[in-house]
Amino acid sequence: MTTFKEAARLQELPPYLFAEIDKKKAELRAKGMDLISLGIGDPDMPTPKHIVEAMQKAAANPETHPYPPYDGAPQFKKAACAWMKKYYNVEFDPSTECLTLIGSKEGIAHIPWTFVNPGDAVLVPSPGYPVYSSATTFCGGIPHFMPLTRENKFLPDLKKIPEDILKKTKIMFLNYPNNPTSAVATREFFQDVVALAKKYNFIICHDAAYMEIFYDGKRPLSIFQVEGAKDVAIEMHSLSKTFNMTGWRLGFAVGNKAIVQSLAKMKTHLDSGAFVAIQDAGVAALQSPESVLTEIRNIYQQRRDKLVSVLKAHGWDIMVPEATFYVWAATPKGVKAKDFAVKVMEQTGVVITPGTGFGDYGEGYVRFSLTAPPEKLEEAVHRLQKL
Ligand SMILES: *Cc1c(COP(=O)(O)O)cnc(C)c1O
Repeated sequence: MTTFKEAARLQELPPYLFAEIDKKKAELRAKGMDLISLGIGDPDMPTPKHIVEAMQKAAANPETHPYPPYDGAPQFKKAACAWMKKYYNVEFDPSTECLTLIGSKEGIAHIPWTFVNPGDAVLVPSPGYPVYSSATTFCGGIPHFMPLTRENKFLPDLKKIPEDILKKTKIMFLNYPNNPTSAVATREFFQDVVALAKKYNFIICHDAAYMEIFYDGKRPLSIFQVEGAKDVAIEMHSLSKTFNMTGWRLGFAVGNKAIVQSLAKMKTHLDSGAFVAIQDAGVAALQSPESVLTEIRNIYQQRRDKLVSVLKAHGWDIMVPEATFYVWAATPKGVKAKDFAVKVMEQTGVVITPGTGFGDYGEGYVRFSLTAPPEKLEEAVHRLQKL
């Protein structure tokens, strides 16, 4: 039989850290155990009805059927910039400083292709979304991991990045509110990062996928709310988590005109844009009354409060999230993340994610996701109490 060897770039990726968890899951399921997954970051709730209806209407219109404009439908980009103005009071020119993305993952994956040459350094948070480092290595870049530690409130310690790395850095990835730690960034931190990027001439790519999932009325910051960010930054926004639209594949980038335009140029070689009917539905989403967002947030807040209060009462060491639909918890002293996740699964059937799935500095932590329906979450909390 002919065999086809994968390219070195694919073979060289770090091993899939969830393989063991998946194996354990299959094993327990085969034994008849009723598993509850708090492992995945995918909303359990449907896309709001008015967005689905906008899509149905747009899809029936033949004008949406040809290739979309490469950089995005003007009406969607206009709505995206209006959104940034309304909720963050930052201004962008829809025609030059905004770009439609086929989900924010697409933009994140292609920004290294746009700017990184072999041997360039890319600053990547650890723990973090795996795409930052895999996309970097695909184009010959060298990820330099920035540890997110509890002592530093899960923000990278900028003073610890070696000068020789900073000199070779093309891009710094950041992600606040943060997956998996649920940390939020402070204004001072963003100010320091912008100053550093200017000093060493690198791009800040801020992954803002969780901007809208926040608690207690405390809206997280866009990096563009600090002065000078537009000289060095691009921010990747997503409709996925905000509007329960993960399957639709829609997001947008806003930021520095030259950065946005270079990414747009790269994309003309790789894809042909997002279906215009989906972008039209995106307009409906971005123009939703705020009550749509508050309702989604309130549901997560109730779930967060429930999980956090019960686990805390039972002695768990929990970081109470101010944003995101994740809860980051320390494992008992000396217990490895993977061993702990497996143990929890064996004893309770509750599936959680070991922190090491997001990088070496996730060791000592596990992540709970709040994206399970209430009765499942309730049952999971009940079982965890008995652990
Ligand atoms: C879910 C997620 C994304 C990707 O979102 P899409 O817009 O659906 O591609 C990006 N970054 C982080 C940290 C995420 O958790």
